Amino acid sequence: MLSNARTAYQIHNHERCINAALRLAREICQKNKVTLTPTKEQVLKLIWQSHRPIGAYQIQDQLAKIRHKAVAPPTVYRALKFLTKLGLVHKIPSLNSFIGCPFPNSPQSNLFLICEGCGNIAEASCSSVDLVLQKTCRDSNFNLNSKTIELLGLCFLCSESKTTPTSTEDSTAQ
Ligand SMILES: [Zn+2]
Ligand SMILES: [Zn+2]
Repeated sequence: MLSNARTAYQIHNHERCINAALRLAREICQKNKVTLTPTKEQVLKLIWQSHRPIGAYQIQDQLAKIRHKAVAPPTVYRALKFLTKLGLVHKIPSLNSFIGCPFPNSPQSNLFLICEGCGNIAEASCSSVDLVLQKTCRDSNFNLNSKTIELLGLCFLCSESKTTPTSTEDSTAQ
């Protein structure tokens, strides 16, 4: 099973995540004979600024700030469509926002572990889940086009802070 849960929820050298994402993006674009234009790269970087999902309007806003001029919505949508199609970025339907894929070369299921405490999302990809899904679809004569599995809960850090009894009392006493 692939998963980036060990880094997604805690403080880490996120620069490494961004660099790895950009390196993979360039590799995948080259393989698909498409061009990662500066705009598309910038949008990918904005999505990868953290492990929290980001909406299209936020991307548009931040892109406009970087460029010191207005950015038309189609520019953002075109970039998002391009990045999503290549598997570099995933849309989280329930949040209507986007997250960078840590392992875009994996053909397996996209399981999203969404922390309701800190908002960070880790992705996991598990071949046995895939087999079950394939069998379910086969048995139901159902042609699967896409799959996004959202798991809601608390990451280990957020569940730790929830079970620490003193933390909330301390902050109100000060
Ligand atoms: Zn990171
Ligand atoms: Zn959390």
